[in-house]
Amino acid sequence: MVGRTYLDWNATAPLRAEAGAALAEALALPGNPSSIHAEGRAARRVVETAREQVAALVHARASEVTFTSSGTEANMLALTPAIETAAEKRPRDRLLTSAVEHASVRSGGRFPREAVSEIAVDAEGRIDLAALGEALAKTQRPLVSLMLANNETGVVEPVAAAAELVHAAGGLLHVDAVQAAGRIDCDIAALGTDLVTLSAHKIGGPKGVGALIRAREDIHLRDPLIRGGGQERGLRAGTENLPGIAAFGAAAAAAGIARAAEAGAMRELRDRLEAGLREACPRAVIFGAGAERLPNTTLFAAPGMKAETAVIGFDLEGVAVSSGAACSSGKVQPSHVLAAMGVSGPLARSAVRVSLGWSTTAADIERFQNAWIKLAAALSKEQRGMAA
Ligand code: PLP
Repeated sequence: MVGRTYLDWNATAPLRAEAGAALAEALALPGNPSSIHAEGRAARRVVETAREQVAALVHARASEVTFTSSGTEANMLALTPAIETAAEKRPRDRLLTSAVEHASVRSGGRFPREAVSEIAVDAEGRIDLAALGEALAKTQRPLVSLMLANNETGVVEPVAAAAELVHAAGGLLHVDAVQAAGRIDCDIAALGTDLVTLSAHKIGGPKGVGALIRAREDIHLRDPLIRGGGQERGLRAGTENLPGIAAFGAAAAAAGIARAAEAGAMRELRDRLEAGLREACPRAVIFGAGAERLPNTTLFAAPGMKAETAVIGFDLEGVAVSSGAACSSGKVQPSHVLAAMGVSGPLARSAVRVSLGWSTTAADIERFQNAWIKLAAALSKEQRGMAA
């Protein structure tokens, strides 16, 4: 087999060259960013440069960035009743999320189970804004957590419209932009959100680094997950992951510069891939196709196909794709995202996700198509056999 075709970028992206270089440089630094000697100050400069780079990706201020160990941890840090603003010191009384969120948000964070409600989505996977409005009307001081783009379907949520409703109801909005960052423009002010989560490994940084970013300095998280030293303004104790943070910053800077060009190229290849999918199997369903989607993601199913069999079939042809949600790949469970979109269990169990990235080429798409032509032919032969 000549090389591999990696089409599982929503699970994780390869390290960008810029991130690898920053990582290696930071690994060679001896100092602790909290030390006041020259070595410490050099390490501190690396952290603060990365903070600026990560902030720039969402057009935020560097002082509002808190580095964490992952997107998951950033979501956990954000989802607490103990968020104060200049105007509201009392704890948040409810967490409202959508039915298609990442498992970390669906867990409810530090809210008691009974204080968490899930808002329905439409058949394309977009949050039902009327239902959000109704739920907000029943709360006093809600925290709302929505993803900007879905990890399985790539569907982009109407976050700016949701933000208006949330703020009109006296609520705060947290946005999980883990899949959206680097793929579509993420401007913290234009989105109208109060808090944003990012993860390094989806944008070409290393795994195991994330960030929670505030829109304003008057938003105070009173309930850190990790206490100890005063790192990250007391919000996340522990000596900073200097190489990881440096590489996150470099990846964010590279992603910011290349985003428009990369997104255009990915969209063209993704559209070609979808045309080929339908050509080889006209019954193939592409989920969320009627909504705005990330330029790199296709979640599709073919009636009668088993996702695991398809993923193994693609793998044998040298193509890496995934079934169901990336973060829970390996678990044979129908996706909660497709269930929330009203997709039947059997069709949901046949869903395969293909996600492209900045180094995906036309040859990768051709290889995917050739593998799919074989799989689709085997599927229709099997189905003809069953019908006979
Ligand atoms: N949020 C979304 C939408 C994701 O897709 C993921 C991971 O796939 C996460 C959060 C978690 O990020 P991390 O892997 O950094 O914990």
